[in-house]
Amino acid sequence: MSYPTRTGYYMRPTSSPPTPTNFTFSALPPPPSSRTPHPIPKPPFSKHPAFDNPDADLILRTADKVPFRVFRRILIESSDIFRDLFSIPSPPSSSTTSLSPAQQEPPVLDIPEPARLMNDFLLCVYPLPNPRYTSIDELFPLFDLARKYASQPVLDVLRAALVSPELMRKTVPLRVYALACKEDLEQEKRTAAAACLEADIDKAALYMEALWPEELRDWSALDLTRLVRLRDTRFELAAELVRGLEGKGVCPVGSCRHDFQADYFPEFQEAALLELRKCPTSKVVFTHTFVTSCLNKTAASCFGCAREYLASSGTILSHLKRRIDMLPDNVLEVGRMPAER
Ligand SMILES: [Zn+2]
Repeated sequence: MSYPTRTGYYMRPTSSPPTPTNFTFSALPPPPSSRTPHPIPKPPFSKHPAFDNPDADLILRTADKVPFRVFRRILIESSDIFRDLFSIPSPPSSSTTSLSPAQQEPPVLDIPEPARLMNDFLLCVYPLPNPRYTSIDELFPLFDLARKYASQPVLDVLRAALVSPELMRKTVPLRVYALACKEDLEQEKRTAAAACLEADIDKAALYMEALWPEELRDWSALDLTRLVRLRDTRFELAAELVRGLEGKGVCPVGSCRHDFQADYFPEFQEAALLELRKCPTSKVVFTHTFVTSCLNKTAASCFGCAREYLASSGTILSHLKRRIDMLPDNVLEVGRMPAER
């Protein structure tokens, strides 16, 4: 279907417009990452009623032949590709000029995207509630689309969705980091890298290689190096704090006399360093389960030890936790360390 089926005036005529007779986006080069389709969950799809507007001045017809009645002005403001396309004056057509405006249907523009995808794209650029995403798999085709149509508003929606708490909670953080790197999104890289510290990056990489190998292809060695260096640097700083752990206290039960410094803390330090080596954050090592598991050996001979140790070491461990929480977690800053220059 050709686009300019009747007379139209566009906002930005160009001095030397291309003269295609059949406008279609299928001639555009495919986005670089389109080689492997991502599995997308398929909730029931329905087109937003705003895209049935009878006053529309354009019909976008999707690959699955769903018409979207839209306003060119909105597309022009939200996409460089649409802006350039509509800046081309369309040739006059005598076939429809005799019709009254009420009888004239807007021109039709065929696009190769499926309706579900175009519905989301338009929701991002119209003054309507943005689509909500709970799976990173849903974002891949839209990032491709935002890039293909050079649409900053769509990109802004996707950036927010990528690091939204809802999506981050359900996603392997390394996948978020990889996608942020692929799309070259600095702030999102930083957020995702901080989240990566709370999971074992080595295991996460193996997991990704098994399940989503294509997602490991589109980021650089530098991005990976920075992430590993952030983890290792943070571990060294955390280890220093843990090794310096000090506390006075002695179990008063009977003749026990176990003390923190000699008996309990070494167990905690050894276990904490093993854990922090993988995940240099406070997430695991200060949980009740972790702290009490370190008492298993030292408190085995005395019923009072565990209670005394936990009661007396609480403040000391809280202080240590606060200091570990304050350690640097900015992957962008780690990347600018002197060794890299
Ligand atoms: Zn004791």
